[in-house]
Amino acid sequence: MSDFEGLTALVTGGASGIGRATADLLADRGATVAVLDLDPSTVDKPLTGHRADVTDDASVRAAVTAAVHGLGGLDILVNNAGIGARGTVETNSDEEWHHVFDVNVLGMVRTARACLPHLRASAHAAIVNTCSIAATAGLPQRALYSATKGAVYSLTLAMAADHVREGIRVNCVNPGTVDTPWIGRLLAAADDPAAERAALEARQPAGRLVSAAEVAAAIAHLASPLSGATTGTALAVDGGMQGL
Ligand code: NAD
Repeated sequence: MSDFEGLTALVTGGASGIGRATADLLADRGATVAVLDLDPSTVDKPLTGHRADVTDDASVRAAVTAAVHGLGGLDILVNNAGIGARGTVETNSDEEWHHVFDVNVLGMVRTARACLPHLRASAHAAIVNTCSIAATAGLPQRALYSATKGAVYSLTLAMAADHVREGIRVNCVNPGTVDTPWIGRLLAAADDPAAERAALEARQPAGRLVSAAEVAAAIAHLASPLSGATTGTALAVDGGMQGL
């Protein structure tokens, strides 16, 4: 399929996991793709990598300017960079709350703010935010993380309303537990990684974790001109975790 032929995309957190799978898929389907990441050293052709920290507005603006210059415009923003957090309201400190909101919510706001002037010039402008089923599922030990993703969900709906008349669509994906380096780090920290993985899989109605490629396919659907009438939606990619 080449539905992205002639289109340009920027993927944040695109050096790893869901972001990398998305950048690769969009490039395979014809887009010219740039990646913004804390560590873009593993990003290779045909992708171009730009170093930025989404908690630092100046670094986001500089990376977006460089990326858009290299791409020759911008049609698609995949707002994906994010970090996890375990804990309850009693165990996470104010500093942790501020930091995770800074990355997961303000990071998307800063990147969107820098990209919107460029997206307005596109005939096929789309933003896809990587949210999570944590936004609505009520997961234990995830108060802080879930609150950030709840904010991303609300942000998606509000941005869709703000920008629909400018021809910019805004949607999000809500993945379940996805097999990425992030989950690899979580398992590595467990006392018995194999048992922890088996327990994680047993909690999935589908009996397995979601793959990064499956989330990338959902993001590509929402980013594609083929979904040109879809805005302000959340697409679950969770192996039935939320509905069952
Ligand atoms: P990952 O750790 O494999 O990749 C995250 C990428 O974001 C990394 O390349 C990292 O360098 C980059 N990043 C982190 N902080 C950054 C910052 N401050 N500035 C710029 N880049 C930064 O993780 P992943 O599992 O692919 O997660 C990607 C997104 O998917 C996140 O928003 C996460 O909340 C969401 N998500 C993940 C899962 C899951 O189970 N893995 C489930 C639901 C949602």
